[in-house]
Amino acid sequence: MNDIPQQHPHGAEAIAPGSQAALRAWNRERITEILEEHGTLTQAQLARISGLSPATVSNIVKSLESDGAVNRTPVTSSGRRALGISLTSDRSIAVGVDIGRRHIRLIAATRGREVLAERFVPLPVGHTAEKTLVVVGAEYTELLAETGRGQSDVIGIGVGIPGPIDQRSKHVVDGAILPEWVGIQAVPRLEATFGRPVILENDANLGALGEVSFGDHTAKRSLVYVKVATGIGAGIVIDGALLPGSIGISGEIGHMGLHTSDAICRCGNRGCLETVASTQTLLKQLRESGRTATKSEDIVELAQAGDLAAQRLLEDAGGAVGRACAHIANLLGPEVIVIGGPLAVLGESFLGPIRASMRRHSVPLIRETVGLEATSRGDQTEALGAVALVLRAPHNVQDLTAIRH
Ligand SMILES: [Zn+2]
Repeated sequence: MNDIPQQHPHGAEAIAPGSQAALRAWNRERITEILEEHGTLTQAQLARISGLSPATVSNIVKSLESDGAVNRTPVTSSGRRALGISLTSDRSIAVGVDIGRRHIRLIAATRGREVLAERFVPLPVGHTAEKTLVVVGAEYTELLAETGRGQSDVIGIGVGIPGPIDQRSKHVVDGAILPEWVGIQAVPRLEATFGRPVILENDANLGALGEVSFGDHTAKRSLVYVKVATGIGAGIVIDGALLPGSIGISGEIGHMGLHTSDAICRCGNRGCLETVASTQTLLKQLRESGRTATKSEDIVELAQAGDLAAQRLLEDAGGAVGRACAHIANLLGPEVIVIGGPLAVLGESFLGPIRASMRRHSVPLIRETVGLEATSRGDQTEALGAVALVLRAPHNVQDLTAIRH
């Protein structure tokens, strides 16, 4: 493959075999390092020094340019006019905040998608929005201090919430996993906390953005991220962009009726996917069978310890999630469906049943072409997606609120 550089400063084993994302990230880093060392260079010079093909260099430069990490200026090279590539002296960063039922995670990254700092705080279930705002504000100050940047360097803050968000009012709507946030003027309150512009987005949507911006799938144009957690939702990327739905709500697959259950769902309907496969459902069933299970980590631990009930529940849940994935695949035909949420760490013991059921319920060509994988960025995916939400905005704060429509 001509994209592999001749010399690898970290040793060839630093790239996981077959991992295109690792290779792209490495190439990007290499080009950035060369520009740091040499200053302005033409694309031809970059190709020569890096050992990468001109086409690869061109792609990396395009991607760095779209992130605002480099700019082009006219130069003369060997007596001919050319365009010089140089790093912007830009110190700006984007911050992503993932607010969950039991945690807050904050990540700060540059336009070049280098993660500078990360903070994680566990929170008690039922934390009020007021309390969360205080904690998140304090953590933001710490995060900024760790990056060595100032408040004016922050171009914006993406915030993910586990719940549907009506983008007309910017309100978290009823049905959210964080009922404490429903109806709150979330964006103004968050902007008052951070003192910077905020974009609010549903967590599964951010998972999808995280995968195509920071994960193993940066070359994908269509991807569906399915988050299986206390609730179940999907983020849909089509033609490289998030599918917002007409009012910002889409991918509510947790409420697909699957005819495998007739239990009443929190949405008021019967037999929704969540009544079979949400972690809340699994925990409840484990407790009913006499096991101690209060949080999603308990499901993972029981399954890994060989607990038969936990394994059986995961098989059933996987079967139902796989059926929903088959419907998504039949409908949208994405390149890949990525499974996120706390159960993704179980790997094939959870993905296996999903895969089998997805194959059974999808049409032949779809079954052969649509991939199914666990998230490549683990617990960070949504916070990274929140960073990406800001980085994908036009290069100035003023346009930030207009990017979704
Ligand atoms: Zn429902």
